[in-house]
Amino acid sequence: VALRLATTSPRALGLYGVLLVLPTLIFGGLYWREIQKDFARERLEVPSRAESGAERIVASMRQALGQLIERESQRPFYSYSQYVAPPTARGDAMALQRSSLLTGPNPTGIQGWFSIDRSGGPDSQVRVFLGTNVKDSARSEDELRDVVADFRKRKETEEFLQRATDLLLNMNTVEVPLTALAVGISTDDQQIDCVEKHADLLQEQKVKVQVSEFRLQFYVHEGTPRAIASRRVLLNDPLSAKELPEGPCFEPLMTFFHLQQGFLIDPDWLLRKLPFSLANQALDEEEELRIPPQAGPIDYVGQAFASIYPINELGFETYYPEDGLYGQLDVLASSERMTERHSRQSQRFLAVGGMLLLTLATGVTLLYRGVRRELDQAHRMQNFVAAVTHELRTPVSTIRLHAEMLQDGWVQPEKQPEYYRRIVRETQRLSTLVERVLEKSRLKENVTRPVAADLNETIQALRPALSSSEDEDDLDFQLEAGLPAVWLTAEGIEMILSNLVENARKYAPPGGEPLVVRTRWKDGRVLLEVLDRGPGVPAAEREKIFDAFYRVGSEQTRTTTGTGLGLHLVRLHAETCGARVSVEDREGGGSAFQVAFRPAD
Ligand code: ADP
Repeated sequence: VALRLATTSPRALGLYGVLLVLPTLIFGGLYWREIQKDFARERLEVPSRAESGAERIVASMRQALGQLIERESQRPFYSYSQYVAPPTARGDAMALQRSSLLTGPNPTGIQGWFSIDRSGGPDSQVRVFLGTNVKDSARSEDELRDVVADFRKRKETEEFLQRATDLLLNMNTVEVPLTALAVGISTDDQQIDCVEKHADLLQEQKVKVQVSEFRLQFYVHEGTPRAIASRRVLLNDPLSAKELPEGPCFEPLMTFFHLQQGFLIDPDWLLRKLPFSLANQALDEEEELRIPPQAGPIDYVGQAFASIYPINELGFETYYPEDGLYGQLDVLASSERMTERHSRQSQRFLAVGGMLLLTLATGVTLLYRGVRRELDQAHRMQNFVAAVTHELRTPVSTIRLHAEMLQDGWVQPEKQPEYYRRIVRETQRLSTLVERVLEKSRLKENVTRPVAADLNETIQALRPALSSSEDEDDLDFQLEAGLPAVWLTAEGIEMILSNLVENARKYAPPGGEPLVVRTRWKDGRVLLEVLDRGPGVPAAEREKIFDAFYRVGSEQTRTTTGTGLGLHLVRLHAETCGARVSVEDREGGGSAFQVAFRPAD
């Protein structure tokens, strides 16, 4: 039995390891590596996320600016004026209207409009227009005029080139009633009066005017950014004097007049308000738009940024290349959330993995303990079989030998009592053995209930039965007076004492110090102790010797006789009384067996 257990159980343990623990560890490890790799990959994507965030912002800005330009393109060139003669107006009473530039508010992002008469030389008039929502309009008008005057002076030399390209590429021909044109280019009341006087004549005629697309220009003037959209308006076929009467409103119509008109874009709106208001829509949670920090940005792992140069990217023309870099913005992509998600994922994995490992470890431990117990049991059974065989064989053969000799009359009469005594003694040994085996199974089944009684009195009553036949004085009783009553069974105390004393006699060298039977009070318990000067019990064996059939050492080398049942019975009886047995080293050598009883109240 032991042999089979010894091989199958460890094999089960091995299988458990190979089939459960190993795959768990391997797959767990692989999965863990996968998580880490994913994270690393996501990290690498951070810079490209910043790039794409920047692209989205730029696209949205282009769209917003495009819409603004588109709306402004819809405005007829002649509304850059105080009054407008609607092309549909008919009849004598020409109804002049105030220009839409002056009657409505400035649209978001537009600071004001201007119109320059380029045909009138460098000092010709600059007209500016402000919407109704401009607060201090007189001052703002002056400021606007200054800005436009400055703009006009810039790069005079380029004028011809620009004009030429405009003419070739971007011009749209617009046909307008002469009235609208005449009112549109009127700069004073006399001219307006003139138009009103000749309204009939003017209304009949239409004229073709070239209007260019808006161009965007950006520059920095004394630290102040300026963003300007402008277009050109040309009259390529001046009317001849023959066709027209005289009057102040007709003069401009007879020249190649050339207007430059447009509007100022609010740089603060363009470079700050607009992108930041678009950022909510265009960017996701892990991206952020920011103005680049003054000091170089501190770059840490998992964070990246991409720069936006709105001026260049929105198609503004600049006079100096560095102006194109004005108003830089950064899109910052961070991996904070990613890191958070990753650590949550890792934690969850570790928790589950830990639990799984714990379960597996518990399994291994339980299995291992089971295996150990089985092996121990098997070992004890083996010992028992050997011991019982030996214990039975010796007395039986002695009895048989002696009985046969007596039967055959080979023993001299004076020796016969000795032979009978030996037969009786061996028979007693046999019956003790049988009784112990029986008692063990009996004790497991029906238990006598313990009663509250005085331990000392119970021991006193047993004294005669305990004393040895050979040596009257080998027992020394040291019973402490005044001990409380404890829970006990009388037969239990008898079994415990007789077994302990018998063992002490067996294992301690004969003729030495007397054995001590002692009672005393310690730590809330009443102790019953049997002390000897024998070899003592090695620490590793102190638990095991109370197991059934357990004997120290091996059956082959042992010199003492026994079954390994004595101390087991002691423990069973002690447990019936609710007491605990243990063994310690006795001071000065030997062992001290202790039974700790619970006081009865
Ligand atoms: P047995 O005495 O029949 O072998 P026990 O159950 O009485 O069985 O004892 C178990 C083991 O404990 C013994 O084999 C012995 O090695 C050890 N033992 C018991 N009593 C003593 C003692 N007083 N001194 C030293 N060893 C002891």
